[in-house]
Amino acid sequence: MMTQTKSGRASGKSKRSGELLAQKLQTEGITNLQVLQAIANSPRHIFIPEILAHKAYDNTALPIGQGQTISQPYIVAKMSELLLKGFEPKNILEIGTGSGYQTSILAQLTDKVFSVERIKSLQFQAKRCLRSMDLHNISLKHGDGWQGWASKAPFDAIIVTAGAVSVPQALLEQLIDGGRLVIPVGDKTQVLKIITRNGDSYSEEQVEAVRFVPLVPGELL
Ligand code: SAH
Repeated sequence: MMTQTKSGRASGKSKRSGELLAQKLQTEGITNLQVLQAIANSPRHIFIPEILAHKAYDNTALPIGQGQTISQPYIVAKMSELLLKGFEPKNILEIGTGSGYQTSILAQLTDKVFSVERIKSLQFQAKRCLRSMDLHNISLKHGDGWQGWASKAPFDAIIVTAGAVSVPQALLEQLIDGGRLVIPVGDKTQVLKIITRNGDSYSEEQVEAVRFVPLVPGELL
């Protein structure tokens, strides 16, 4: 059994499990200590269906309903590390809230997190989990991530946690000058890309092959 404090922060066994997961990610090449600390602190079991709780601290993606998944902890840590490398973003936009686990990690690494999810029931569930963790620097929105979140723009950094067939134009426009977008681009499998804005031009770096559920355009559920 995992234990949990009233606020939902990791304690007891789940704290130990989070620490072990962070240690594992460190052996797999994650070096940012702030990111590792956030992983160690976070009760991943509250973000997944109870029936899968015994797998909560495994380094794997897991189903969260509606055909969606909570990302693999390694990829959550990797993308967070890429967002922060040599950079201190004060606000971050996340596209694809899903379970809210990645959101909870980001909220421990920056001043303010905005996150957009197209499936209402997932957004609702994520909101409950994040509230129970006592994180108060997060705003969630039910919407189409292809449009970003124009009224809150510009963002220092943007992270997309679903695979996009192409880079959404709105996200490029909503970055500050010097800002950074971390996004998996491709069809069934994707390449994780870091795109940096320099005025009206953008430079691109490819990191590694990844596999995400698709960033679905249009209609909301
Ligand atoms: N960061 C999440 C990943 C969830 S999977 C986690 O670790 O739990 C990707 C999520 O992106 C899914 O919840 C899916 O519904 C959402 N998504 C897909 N297309 C989207 C779109 N166009 N706008 C917003 N969210 C989208």
